[in-house]
Amino acid sequence: MPVLTRLIPSPVVVDIRPGALDDLAGVLADQRISSSGKLAIAISGGSGAVLRERLAPALPSAEWFEVGGGTLDDAIKLADAMKKKGRYDAVVGLGGGKIIDCAKFAAARVGLPLVAVATNLSHDGLCSPVATLDNDAGRGSYGVPNPIAVVIDLDVIREAPVRFVRSGIGDALSNISAIRDWELAARERGEDIDGLAAAMARQAGEAVLRHPGGVGDDGFLQVLAEGLVLTGIAMSVSGDSRPASGACHEINHAFDLLFPKRAASHGEQCGLGAAFAMHLRGAKEESAFMAEVLRRHGLPVLPAEIGFSVDEFVQVVEYAPTTRPGRYTILEHLNLNTDQIRDAYADYAKTIGS
Ligand SMILES: [Zn+2]
Repeated sequence: MPVLTRLIPSPVVVDIRPGALDDLAGVLADQRISSSGKLAIAISGGSGAVLRERLAPALPSAEWFEVGGGTLDDAIKLADAMKKKGRYDAVVGLGGGKIIDCAKFAAARVGLPLVAVATNLSHDGLCSPVATLDNDAGRGSYGVPNPIAVVIDLDVIREAPVRFVRSGIGDALSNISAIRDWELAARERGEDIDGLAAAMARQAGEAVLRHPGGVGDDGFLQVLAEGLVLTGIAMSVSGDSRPASGACHEINHAFDLLFPKRAASHGEQCGLGAAFAMHLRGAKEESAFMAEVLRRHGLPVLPAEIGFSVDEFVQVVEYAPTTRPGRYTILEHLNLNTDQIRDAYADYAKTIGS
């Protein structure tokens, strides 16, 4: 009888709740993470200072490293600084998306496990096997191990600007559209679907979609944070970003590449992209419901709401498939020309009510 089941690459600790940061030292002292307390902690120079002041007394053997920004250079500099300073049990990334991405990359480079302590919920990368960093060519995604532990203090999340929470909502909701693209690729192209990864990512998106609460409620933030963590693990399970990235993310990338100076946040663009992609695939009611939920949370559902004209949005959608060659989504499937995209957009705007 075959008894071998697969093991899921996942953090040994996931601690998501109000006040979680007060027990961070205890989490880090876990034998599997750092019994000696020798930790390299990466923080931002600005907002990180307050957290450092608060946490330093409980972490006397830790070294603190200020991270410049979210570029590949910053991540390499961080890794080099850690290598020069000494030996550590683990790297801790303490901050927003940029700090965690830099810390993930640096930890992989020096061969140490990473503890992600997220101070905002702007996207699903806080527990994913990918570090997104700016490089000379724009922006790159680098494969890294999944974090060994994830700590999210909902009291800290509440203090971050609300636009970060909104961005996380758009990114989580876009899972629903991404999974539909995956199913489409399976039907049309014979691509394999990883059912577990798809289930985790879809449930994360559906839970956020159907939660009646708002950005100010702990109950809602809990579900959103858990959803983003599970989405990251879903990506580890499938070994790529498929569970969380389809036409929605191609549209997001196209915004970033065509209008690098004017682009909105990751989640704003992914949420809008997801609502439009759902419409394109003929799921008009689901698209309208997604748009309604995005609106309720203060997210854009029309390009004008993030400062783009309809013509620019049509240009974005037309360009989107080139941003992720090889990924089959509703955009590649329909292969619409400019006029068809314009018509589809007009129908979308009419359906969701502008
Ligand atoms: Zn995303």
